[in-house]
Amino acid sequence: MANYLKVLLGNSEKILLYITDTKDVVKRASKLHNTNPVATAAIGRLITGTKLMILSHKEDSARISVSINGNGEIGKLIAFADNIGTLKVKLDNPNPEMKITENGKLDVGYAVGKEGFVSVTRDSDTIKPYTSQTKLVSGEIAEDLTYYYADSEQQGCAFSLGVFINAEAEVDKAGGMMLHVLPDCDEKDLDNVENAMQNAKAFTEYLKNYNNLEDIINAIFTNIHYKIIDSSVFEYSCDCSEWRAKRAYDSIEKSERDQIIKEDGNLTIHCDYCGKDYVFKK
Ligand SMILES: [Zn+2]
Repeated sequence: MANYLKVLLGNSEKILLYITDTKDVVKRASKLHNTNPVATAAIGRLITGTKLMILSHKEDSARISVSINGNGEIGKLIAFADNIGTLKVKLDNPNPEMKITENGKLDVGYAVGKEGFVSVTRDSDTIKPYTSQTKLVSGEIAEDLTYYYADSEQQGCAFSLGVFINAEAEVDKAGGMMLHVLPDCDEKDLDNVENAMQNAKAFTEYLKNYNNLEDIINAIFTNIHYKIIDSSVFEYSCDCSEWRAKRAYDSIEKSERDQIIKEDGNLTIHCDYCGKDYVFKK
């Protein structure tokens, strides 16, 4: 079953909805990085948001990297996605202090920090890399990405992202959605969708109560016309390779390489996204 749907919302079909279930992706990320529950929630929200962002790019060669660098204990988080299937995330500290908010949720904003920056770098075969940056709003990630679009790109985009961790500290539900309002959107459509969003519960509540994405759309956007225009399946996928590791190896001064190999017997290039080691012996 597809874990991603792209939908046109409203009678005028000028509101795009990107919606996804990322439970398996977040589970894999949490295993790879050995994260505690609050760090799992943070990387889960970021990797989900980043995937939704790349899916809104049409070009096959499009790439995006989103980093959140706040003043909380978790340090820097970086997620990367492209349109040929790469989707990966890394973070500085997988074990930040855990706090619970007043309404009983993991305090992601506390772990990430409320002061800092969101940086987004995009490029493709036809567009040179460019980076834009905005301040963090809350460290809760969905709000920060929403603010990034409004402030940096002057675009009406709204994110809702959620990760639910069960009593055994495992990822039970994860997913999110991104709304993008296109120019010339009908006002009535916009009102209806905004109302639906205002009355919507946390995204994880829908993941808990419904088994597929279409049922979630029906539950959130009751009585609003929609049309599915794309669907796909994706997973956590790192694009590191022998060739890239060799490039990193070659970028180290030869005398330094020789010294390390002499002392340790080999030189290891480690991938921070998937944990793979590339070992060079000469
Ligand atoms: Zn890798």
